Amino acid sequence: QDKRYLMIPGPTPVPPKVVAAMTTPMFGHRTQEFQNLHKDIVTKLQKVFQTKNDIFVLTSSGTGGMETAVANTVSPGDKVLTLVGGKFGERWSELAKAYGAELIEENFEWGTPVNPQIVKDRLAANPDIKVVFATQNETSTGVTNDIESIGKIVADTPALLVVDGVSGVGGIEIKVDEWHVDILTTGSQKSLMLPPGLAVQSVSDKAWQVIENNKSPRYYFDLVKARKSLGKWNTAYTPAVSLFVGLNTSLDMMLEEGLDNVYARHKLLRDAARAAIKALGLKLMTDDNCASPVITSVCAPEGIGADDIRKVLTNEFGITFAGGQAQLKNKIFRVAHMGFADKMDVLIAISGLEMALTRVGYPVELGAGVKAAQQVFLGVQ
Ligand code: PMP
Repeated sequence: QDKRYLMIPGPTPVPPKVVAAMTTPMFGHRTQEFQNLHKDIVTKLQKVFQTKNDIFVLTSSGTGGMETAVANTVSPGDKVLTLVGGKFGERWSELAKAYGAELIEENFEWGTPVNPQIVKDRLAANPDIKVVFATQNETSTGVTNDIESIGKIVADTPALLVVDGVSGVGGIEIKVDEWHVDILTTGSQKSLMLPPGLAVQSVSDKAWQVIENNKSPRYYFDLVKARKSLGKWNTAYTPAVSLFVGLNTSLDMMLEEGLDNVYARHKLLRDAARAAIKALGLKLMTDDNCASPVITSVCAPEGIGADDIRKVLTNEFGITFAGGQAQLKNKIFRVAHMGFADKMDVLIAISGLEMALTRVGYPVELGAGVKAAQQVFLGVQ
């Protein structure tokens, strides 16, 4: 099927301008041309991250960026706190364990946000916690966490705050410096509108002190080595040159739209999607106060498998939603509206959903969801 409506939380659709940029004939990475490109990219990323910290663009998937953060801050036996409310929070725990950490895992019910007060209590009871690992946007549930509040709490302690912003950065505002995020790590294939293959990471001065004394083995993901190449060749190994070119263009698109407008657009898409789901009588997985601007999770109606709805959507209409992961498998479906997404994408998603629900034996009033979304977009009742 050539006509695709890809509505999963990564990889996401790549704007034609970015695709075109990436067809630039290949050039060497040990050249002035690459150095200029790298400098441009870092300056623009610092605007998106709202930071003056060092920024690294790693050739790796999002998880490689997470592993970089762990390998560079966690030595065997270190006490760390992971804040878990879904599959990607769990990944922090798995990584911390793999690097020999003494793990304190704080679990929050899937579909609910991290409670900052609990973070405060855990840190007070365990003043030797070295790193707190959080998730900005828990993609598996569609919850956006309050990184600002968590950041304020962690900043009052010696611990570092490391945040997985893989699915959120570029679609949800994050203020690295003001919110005291020591390491923010993200991926290219979601809100940043690129194909998979890059992980972007910022590192604070507080984090550098830990990284420099860290004892875990690392080679490709060694941030100390990566820092040595900054200002010289900028990347220690061969970077994904084409993706860097694409990133420069996608960042230009975001900055031309205006970051405030980018974030407002995502919130509008969220509000429309949620209004539509409510109008169809379906249950949203998250409350309004923590609902992700980039992905909406919906509970399948009683007795109907979420994956059966998804199958109809794909086979009959060319629309791909994401399914539920782990304990949520077949129970929810997830509609991404991140990155290169706009109003008509939401209307297509909802219109297809109405037809798919009808096909699987859960008849809805056709057009009711679309109408609710249109009303949000037009600001009318
Ligand atoms: N963290 C979050 C929040 C994610 O959404 C994802 C990807 N779904 C990852 C980490 C992992 O990224 P990758 O698959 O690129 O390794």
